[in-house]
Amino acid sequence: MKRLPMLLALLCAISIVPVSANSQTPQKPDRQVAITIDDLPAGMADRLPAADITAMTTKLLGTLRDQKIPVVGFVNEKKLYKAGEVDARIKALQMWLDYGFELGNHTFSHASLNQVGLKAWEDDIIQGESVTRLLLAPRKMKLRYFRHPYLDTGRDLQTRRQAEAFLVERGYRIAPITLDGWDWMFAGLYEDAKQRNDTALQQQIVKEYLSYHDAAIAYAEQLSKQVVGYEPKQILLLHASNLEADHIGDLLDVLRKRGYRFITLEDALGDQAYSLPDTYVGEEGTSWIDHWAITQGKIPQGAPPFPQWVIERTKQLHLSTGQVSAEPAP
Ligand SMILES: [Zn+2]
Repeated sequence: MKRLPMLLALLCAISIVPVSANSQTPQKPDRQVAITIDDLPAGMADRLPAADITAMTTKLLGTLRDQKIPVVGFVNEKKLYKAGEVDARIKALQMWLDYGFELGNHTFSHASLNQVGLKAWEDDIIQGESVTRLLLAPRKMKLRYFRHPYLDTGRDLQTRRQAEAFLVERGYRIAPITLDGWDWMFAGLYEDAKQRNDTALQQQIVKEYLSYHDAAIAYAEQLSKQVVGYEPKQILLLHASNLEADHIGDLLDVLRKRGYRFITLEDALGDQAYSLPDTYVGEEGTSWIDHWAITQGKIPQGAPPFPQWVIERTKQLHLSTGQVSAEPAP
């Protein structure tokens, strides 16, 4: 990903211009976004006891339900299998349905199509269906959405197309993403600060997490216009974490300030943008706006740089959140 500091500075400058400086009421654009949350029951399920996962889930889903935000959560069933905690972890997953949300498949073990090869990846998808299907069945709900781990969609076009055909055959619709503020990176650091009761650092992380999302979303909006010709119904990628449980309300406010209202994934996927030509292949998973840009021969430029101190601190802690294959670019 190319990152130009000048453009970031420009974006920041634009975003801090007080909109109420003159007497005219600014017209908010009508923007729409579907919220998706990956790595259920929790991104850091390996390190969190079931009680913490349940508490995190209760808080996260409470906010989303209170604010009537439609959400699809994407499951890695492998995270359910911890000795003595399987029932409790399944219950945490069940809560998503009890609260009125939907579940999708994110493979059993969070396998990357770019790493494990097509056959193993397909097996991982099938293995990842068992519990989720059982939970959906009594509600007459189908497992209909799939999210690629690491957003890795294949290193070559043949693999990509075969994988897509496999997904269609099993009744899945791919859930692309267009907005991504790398919340999992902030979440790892936040979890560590929370466990050490370092509230000052937690606040610092939250501030950065919100401002980076604002900048990343502004960037995606302008890239959308260049590539799609308009701002499509966007799809935001988030992850199940204590950071989101504690602060998703603040993030939703950032989105509202940008003029967003919240729609279902089904509604978002009805946007014709999601039928645009897409021949993207690559080592690095990325947003579908990048897919469409690269397919058109455009090189996405001007993405805001990820805050360096978050990268440095994450390295120092040797945090592995199990959510990405690649280290972020410096
Ligand atoms: Zn994931």
